[in-house]
Amino acid sequence: MLTGASLPRFQKNLLKWFAQFQRDLPWRRTRVPYHIWLSEIMLQQTRVTAAIPYYEKFLERFPTVDALAEAPQEEVLRLWSGLGYYSRARNLQKAAQEITDKHDGVFPDQLEEALALPGIGAYTAAAILSIAYQKNHAVLDGNVARVLARLSALRGDLRANGTWQKLQKTADDLLDQKAPGDWNQAMMELGATLCTPRSPQCLLCPVSEFCEARKKGLADLIPAKRVKRSTVEIILAALVIVDPHGRTLLQTPPKAAKKSLADDDVHTLVSRLWHFPTIAVQTGDPAAELKKSVEKSLLDGRKFPGELLPLKKVRHAVTYRSITVLPFRAEVAKLPRISATKVFPLTDLSSVPISNLTRKVARAALAPA
Ligand code: SF4
Repeated sequence: MLTGASLPRFQKNLLKWFAQFQRDLPWRRTRVPYHIWLSEIMLQQTRVTAAIPYYEKFLERFPTVDALAEAPQEEVLRLWSGLGYYSRARNLQKAAQEITDKHDGVFPDQLEEALALPGIGAYTAAAILSIAYQKNHAVLDGNVARVLARLSALRGDLRANGTWQKLQKTADDLLDQKAPGDWNQAMMELGATLCTPRSPQCLLCPVSEFCEARKKGLADLIPAKRVKRSTVEIILAALVIVDPHGRTLLQTPPKAAKKSLADDDVHTLVSRLWHFPTIAVQTGDPAAELKKSVEKSLLDGRKFPGELLPLKKVRHAVTYRSITVLPFRAEVAKLPRISATKVFPLTDLSSVPISNLTRKVARAALAPA
């Protein structure tokens, strides 16, 4: 893409801009592989500002890979609670256990070994190895791909067969071998702050003189919009049982998730974390359906001892799913005995991992009628 004297000038411009304008982020003040790894996992699907407090809290509680490996999984999930995409936390801990067993507690510096760890794909491995170990691996994610496509005015679907490989080759060719960690971060920073999906700020761009899309007036048109998966509407009903002391019951799904869980399985929708008894609504009478389901599956056929009062609807979105939860509150004199449930104060569910969906249902149950 860039040849002769252009490449060093391009690299120099971008690195100089990065040195001057990069955002001050906690994981940029360290080269500790564990810290870099944690930040990269947290930043998948999560905005920087949302990830920062989690990153800091997580490292405070699990300062080393060994500490993370040894912790109860529930504690790891509790600290991840609210960040979403909980398989990231589960894989992070599994990888920590492998690193403790096979690599003396230090994130491996070889690509093959990094890629063999749970939750580590090509992008994450390249990011960690380049930033923590200065290894020459170029990162390619959505942000970097967009920058590269615009630089070379590459049109079409960037994820199409062959195109992604072509972009990876371009990323490899451009990589500054003297500073691969800074280089990768500079490319990502450019994509995240100036060369954004909508309205790229070409006037501020340190490499605009090399940009074909800008020259051709195509910056706003590249990359082509992807056809979005259509939204799936899901309706759930959840039961918040409350006793006179303000205590409630949360249920946990089976420890080992069935491999065959469908995408829209209720356990998947509550992120396989602690949750209120919840069903997928099938009929026009969700209260009756919920009561029947609780009596059948949780109370072994016993009658549920209370009335179900409808609460304000809760809306939640997870990727292509638009979820509406119809929460019901039931006041009971005494919480029924239900296996696989535990008692918690409704006002404070922070002692166990819960999803944002469950948090919203709790909030609805606490809101004044
Ligand atoms: Fe992106 Fe504009 Fe810079 Fe080109 S000139 S890389 S489109 S910000």
